[in-house]
Amino acid sequence: MDLYGILEDSGQLDKLRRSGPVNAVAVCPYHSDSAPSFAINLNTGLWLCYACGARGNSTMLLRDMGLGHYAGRLSPIAPEFLRDDDDTDPLLEDYVLEAFRMCPRSLLDVGFSMEVLADFEIGYDRHRRKITYPIRNNRGGLIGITGRAMTDNTRGPKYLPYGEDEVGIPYPKKSHHLYNAHRVLDRGDKDDILVVEGFKGCMWLEMLGYSSTSMMTNRLSLHQHDILMNLPHNDLYLVPDNDTGGREGATVTLQRYPIFDGVIVIPDPYNSPDDMSLAEFRELQPLNPILWRDQYGIESKHTRDDEQGARSLEERIRQEKERW
Ligand SMILES: [Zn+2]
Repeated sequence: MDLYGILEDSGQLDKLRRSGPVNAVAVCPYHSDSAPSFAINLNTGLWLCYACGARGNSTMLLRDMGLGHYAGRLSPIAPEFLRDDDDTDPLLEDYVLEAFRMCPRSLLDVGFSMEVLADFEIGYDRHRRKITYPIRNNRGGLIGITGRAMTDNTRGPKYLPYGEDEVGIPYPKKSHHLYNAHRVLDRGDKDDILVVEGFKGCMWLEMLGYSSTSMMTNRLSLHQHDILMNLPHNDLYLVPDNDTGGREGATVTLQRYPIFDGVIVIPDPYNSPDDMSLAEFRELQPLNPILWRDQYGIESKHTRDDEQGARSLEERIRQEKERW
């Protein structure tokens, strides 16, 4: 039995109805109301109330409704959502669901909506005091989690992957995946796609209404290029961070993959798209990649290596495969 069927048969959720291909809405059972502010993703079982902020997974909901005996019959994630995928692990799903119970306040405070945080399954791991970002492959399978420390003033990398000892499977090779590609793919619309560096930038642009994916680093890998080429798209725009790493990475990316229609330059004093408002971001005019390189490009060891040897595409592909 599917989640919607169980909820419908129970008759306990007021104004329950399907909303789009994977969602249902109802009046929230966790606060007193008459408007349907309670949204459930029927594929993942994750739910959220836009009015009172309650959120959780299908097991919690069924238990709270006195239908806990059904919970065991549902897999945490519907099989059609995981699709045919061999590098996912149910342990990971449990971990995400556990962290998802807590919405990270700090992201709401800087302007992220509850809706986008729920959609991206962003949670809060209170034991390790980290905001959790689940990473799914382009087929929607959950392949890893990365965590961001709550404070920015700690030394070292801002994002720390959850390792095998924490979630049961090794952390994926980020260069093999393009963050958020599965949502763009599922949408199926031919849209302009913005390719950014970070998780937050990607989420922010999606919230502002843009189709966006994240390289999870400052340059596009060959795998990511292949995924990008298979997404339905119109124009492709690269959105590097406004720092040396961003400009170096973009120089390499544009040289290796002449697929971008433009580069969007984040102006001072901002660093990444999530620093900017919708109005500010809309003002930006994409720059022709050749003009961008003249004006902003930075040669790094990688670009020089590329130019010295490995001229042919085959050679470059071979090198890239070895590198990863
Ligand atoms: Zn509520």
